[in-house]
Amino acid sequence: MSLTDIAARIRAAEREAGRAPGSVTLIAVSKVQPLGRVEAVLEQGHRVFGENYVQEAAGKWPALRDRFPGVSLHMIGPLQSNKVKSALELFDAIHTLDRMSLATKLARLVAEHGRCPELFVQVNTGEEPQKAGVLPRDADAFIAECRAMGLGLSGLMCIPPEDADPKPHFAVLADMAARNGLAGLSMGMSADFEQAIAAGATHVRVGSAIFGARDYG
Ligand SMILES: *Cc1c(COP(=O)(O)O)cnc(C)c1O
Repeated sequence: MSLTDIAARIRAAEREAGRAPGSVTLIAVSKVQPLGRVEAVLEQGHRVFGENYVQEAAGKWPALRDRFPGVSLHMIGPLQSNKVKSALELFDAIHTLDRMSLATKLARLVAEHGRCPELFVQVNTGEEPQKAGVLPRDADAFIAECRAMGLGLSGLMCIPPEDADPKPHFAVLADMAARNGLAGLSMGMSADFEQAIAAGATHVRVGSAIFGARDYG
């Protein structure tokens, strides 16, 4: 696979779902990938990237941004409270707002800095104990509390359980977003982004299908 193939599959999935062309944003997930592969995708003109680790992103993106203007960087990994400040300096969007203590800290720092990234609330649709995210039954209240503290929310994000059919998880997330007046839906990865688009995804997070397998060495 390549960037061009994935982009074409996204356009086809939009068409099939009766969605407007370009209504889905492709986040190229570059975590752990060798710099050369990331540069190759930048050279093809792609500008939206996702990273999982603040430290890794801080090590490579400031220099890449100088060379390739217009980059939009999305945080898609768990965000530790002691990394929020660096995250606010680095990222244009955070997809992993998953707990009240993080919301409180974000609200305070956003008020100080005056700049707020796009925020997505991560929902643990599979209710997996090892996975981050607000539980589905707590999501409406969590969204309301974030809004009450002045955080502007863009949407919801989920990572369905690995061995499950993702479709019901995408549907639950889409319902939850609709009833809370949230337009953004960050869902779908290499194996299931077309299904996510059929279910209404606005942001798909695709890594290995663009860059190749990650080598964690
Ligand atoms: C790594 C990661 C992705 C990309 O996964 P692929 O299967 O390589 O497409 C997407 N979303 C999150 C949250 C990730 O951690």
